Amino acid sequence: MAFQPFYPQPAIIANLPADFDGEVTLADLKSLIRTIPDYPKPGILFRDVTTLFADAQGFKAVIEQMAAHYRGVPVDAVAGIEARGFILGGAIADKLGCGFIPVRKKGKLPWKTISQEYTLEYGVDVIEIHEDAVAQGERILIVDDLIATGGTAEATVKLLRQSGADIIGASFIIDLPELAGGKRLDDHHVPWQAVMAFEGH
Ligand code: AMP
Repeated sequence: MAFQPFYPQPAIIANLPADFDGEVTLADLKSLIRTIPDYPKPGILFRDVTTLFADAQGFKAVIEQMAAHYRGVPVDAVAGIEARGFILGGAIADKLGCGFIPVRKKGKLPWKTISQEYTLEYGVDVIEIHEDAVAQGERILIVDDLIATGGTAEATVKLLRQSGADIIGASFIIDLPELAGGKRLDDHHVPWQAVMAFEGH
């Protein structure tokens, strides 16, 4: 018997208009993202996507948007960046009918790993994948919630390419154009998209 999704169904939607008809606009999606000033430190506008993930229609619409670009394109796996990239990446991989690879912070993966260092504002951080997660020539789509300086995404590109990945693109919900993170992906010849942009950082 064919699987019948429960969606669409009447839902309690915190922020979408009462006459919501199933068409989620970009403005609707933006309104579902909570902005927290001065978190985790003064001057940062933290774009909190948990409020979007919690909304049935909003979550579905953002996954649809991110996957649509790659529909019909051969993708072997989505590589999701810890931790919000796991939530998005799993759902997108399901839509595209491909696998999922977790890109994790140092020390979290149980098997042998390869790693890539990257520079933060203060100090360095390390991300890892399993050494056998990606086969030579596999077509990989990188997914995360937000691109800021692009440091995390750039490190992910380098890490996946160590395993011989063919990176077909990178997809984000949010771009912060003032920080020009996308330029770092351009420099590595990685096509990328973001569903929306926000001012500031
Ligand atoms: P970056 O390496 O500078 O591009 O930072 C990207 C990573 O940090 C992503 O995994 C984001 O989830 C997180 N991040 C950076 N800036 C913000 C922000 N203003 N709001 C929410 N998350 C952020």
